[in-house]
Amino acid sequence: MQIDTLHDAPIVDSQTSVSAPDMLARDLNARFATASPLEILDAAIHHLFPKRIALVSSFGAESALLLHFLAEIDRSVPVLFLDTGKHFDETLMYRDILAGRFDFTDLRSVEPDGADLARHDPDGTLWQTNPDLCCQLRKVDPLLHALEPFGAWITGRKRYQSRTRAELPLFESLDGRIKVNPLAHLNAADIEAAFKEFKLPQHPLYYDGFKSIGCKPCTLRVADGDDARSGRWAGTDKTECGIHR
Ligand code: SF4
Repeated sequence: MQIDTLHDAPIVDSQTSVSAPDMLARDLNARFATASPLEILDAAIHHLFPKRIALVSSFGAESALLLHFLAEIDRSVPVLFLDTGKHFDETLMYRDILAGRFDFTDLRSVEPDGADLARHDPDGTLWQTNPDLCCQLRKVDPLLHALEPFGAWITGRKRYQSRTRAELPLFESLDGRIKVNPLAHLNAADIEAAFKEFKLPQHPLYYDGFKSIGCKPCTLRVADGDDARSGRWAGTDKTECGIHR
């Protein structure tokens, strides 16, 4: 298969004013529409964005599957963990368990800027009064900085997780980068079957009713039958932290 890179694509289509990353994402969605997660990852890591791609993991529920696939392809791809300072202890423990199991050689902890926190969130309660700014300081800004060397990044999002993700494509463009969502088409049953097949450990809080796990102050258990992400910022109209806007 002939695969273009971001550098090979024209900057802007003069007929449509569509940007190069947008055109590339559209093209890749057509090419990989029926590809498996492993095929998508292999192409993205070895052919589309060699040495220019990272995986971003929350080390939350279901994270082990994408990390397992990455370990099958290439353990040296940088894995970025947004260490917001607000995680459950169980998440940090799970991160260490998975990092040990998969033996990644470039696991990076991405942390908020200390001066920003001292200025805007000195007592650590910003999540109560302005969660959007809290996510900006603890997730969005640190991730943007960490992604500077990369032309693409891999996420573990799935369509089934929420209504707002129901149309999630395999490839997206954002801020001049390509986001690769190799698990987009998997559903809850697929994930559960894969965890069994590959004997993957689940997040310690998963069996306690937490189906999507973010920061401790902003994550609640989910009732059976509800969207997996309905426990995130529950009771507010906030559905995303901002890194996937
Ligand atoms: Fe802050 Fe909550 Fe966002 Fe975490 S999820 S960064 S605690 S607002």
